[in-house]
Amino acid sequence: MFNTARKTPMFDKIVKLFTKSPTEKAIALEETWAAHNYAPLPVLLKRGDGVYVWDLEGKKYLDMMGAYSAVSHGHSHPRIIKKLIEQAQTLAMVSRAYHTMTLGPFMEKLCKVSGLDMALPMNTGAEAVETAIKAARQWGYLVKKIPENQAEIIVASGNFHGRTTTIISFSSNPSYRKNFGPLTPGFKAVPFDDIEAIRAAITPNTCAVLMEPIQGEAGIKVPRKGFLSDLRRLCTEKNVLMIDDEVQAGLGRTGKMFCFQHENAKPDILILGKALGGGVLPVSAIVGTKEVMELFEPGSHGSTFGGNSLASAVGLEAINVIEEEGLVENSAILGDYLLTQFRGLNSPLITDVRGMGLWVGVEFDPKKVSARTVCEKLIEKGVLSKETNNTVVRMAPPLIITREQIDWCLAQFREALRELEEEVL
Ligand code: PMP
Repeated sequence: MFNTARKTPMFDKIVKLFTKSPTEKAIALEETWAAHNYAPLPVLLKRGDGVYVWDLEGKKYLDMMGAYSAVSHGHSHPRIIKKLIEQAQTLAMVSRAYHTMTLGPFMEKLCKVSGLDMALPMNTGAEAVETAIKAARQWGYLVKKIPENQAEIIVASGNFHGRTTTIISFSSNPSYRKNFGPLTPGFKAVPFDDIEAIRAAITPNTCAVLMEPIQGEAGIKVPRKGFLSDLRRLCTEKNVLMIDDEVQAGLGRTGKMFCFQHENAKPDILILGKALGGGVLPVSAIVGTKEVMELFEPGSHGSTFGGNSLASAVGLEAINVIEEEGLVENSAILGDYLLTQFRGLNSPLITDVRGMGLWVGVEFDPKKVSARTVCEKLIEKGVLSKETNNTVVRMAPPLIITREQIDWCLAQFREALRELEEEVL
């Protein structure tokens, strides 16, 4: 078709354009028109069902990533899709200028399942974190009587709470902050899992301690046993709010409905997101004690889409499915199995395996192999995962996964490791 004898750079470009596969064309389109704020793995997904997704050529993958824990119910869960369609055909969106039939039951469910008193709906995880920060500062001024604009919040280094300007202000990752200043003051970082450092950082102006119960993006960093209950006790002793960001850890991921339940460490404010949307919509919320939540007045906070009917119906169904289909139990039982099996892999490339429930981080020796290379090798084998913090391969599969599917994943992992060991050792 092309006369290769007359090759020029422009000719090369044209040939490339015409000879691209449909997958290459679709990726090129995305790369041309979508800002490059992510570095996706080289796979193009077209369809999902349960724990599986398929690419354009029909190749099937086991989704061990679960959209960073947002697809805990699996792709296109039938009950969630049914509810989504029913509600979309009834009433999707009117804003909170009016009352609806859907918001009350959703908020009631969030309170009952967490043991807290009142909830406030948002859309994304970061918005819910922002809401928690505002709630805590407001409590600091109105209840604790902190002098105006002096409220401090203690956070953990290595944290990840989202990407808004205020949230990145207390991130310890310089690349999240660079070129985005001026940043928001009022945050103090201490080492994660260090109760004495938190104690030392508390001043009369401290209104809250904000932490993930397990640091997800930092590489599934699990604190020592007893840390959460110690934190609960310290916050009560010092009259400081405990804010528990379970956007990633909550809703069954760690083998309990909420991670704080492992240590009976109920926070004053619980932050939820990701799986709350049933894998189909952005739905988030904070749930808190009456003392904190009652301080919100009309006009003090809001979001056009927060608590919309579609999101509320789906959010409620998402919790019901987790409860009624035994997803928490599955996460506990199969999570133990997954962790034990990964710990037994015994590869010289692996330096650590951590996790809780169906949430596992496998740390690789960066001198030998990058986590990204491992993820690319796993794609060849039909397993989707994603690196985090450069050295960790993270797994957060849908909580509906079966033992057989985990065994298949392990077999692929073993094979990928064997090939990588041959290549790099
Ligand atoms: N908090 C935690 C603990 C998270 O892991 C994330 C997202 N990875 C967020 C907040 C932010 O959520 P979103 O991306 O929906 O804004």
